[in-house]
Amino acid sequence: MKTKLIFSLFAAMVMMHSAIASDSRCVYMCTKCDEIVASEVRPNSDKCSKWAHHIWGNLGRVGKNVFICQKCNKVVYTAFPPNCGYSEKYGYHNWIRLGEFAQTIFRCKKCGVSAYLKKIPNGVPCPAANGGLHEWQNN
Ligand SMILES: [Zn+2]
Ligand SMILES: [Zn+2]
Ligand SMILES: [Zn+2]
Repeated sequence: MKTKLIFSLFAAMVMMHSAIASDSRCVYMCTKCDEIVASEVRPNSDKCSKWAHHIWGNLGRVGKNVFICQKCNKVVYTAFPPNCGYSEKYGYHNWIRLGEFAQTIFRCKKCGVSAYLKKIPNGVPCPAANGGLHEWQNN
């Protein structure tokens, strides 16, 4: 009964969001396996590679700001700075902004991470560079 009420409240909120913004999805990240999914509702909990099921954390609304985590080196696209979120492997995520989303893909020569960006970001530390910075290539 209680669950049903909470679900219908949530569904109403999702519908309101759809009416207000063009992209009403949120970025979800699993605290167990660190998989990232953009979805309008909490994603299915099946098939986690690290546990019986995914445990999703909500990082916030999908948007045009590109963030990278200094701990797990994952990239997310959100409207606002992401909620820190938690990973069993890395602890609390530490997001820093790479720039604005665009259709161009940049890839770091050193660690292999890639991101869709308007231009090459400056001064972002790379986990594969021994205290050095990401070295971005557009290809
Ligand atoms: Zn998982
Ligand atoms: Zn992280
Ligand atoms: Zn790198």
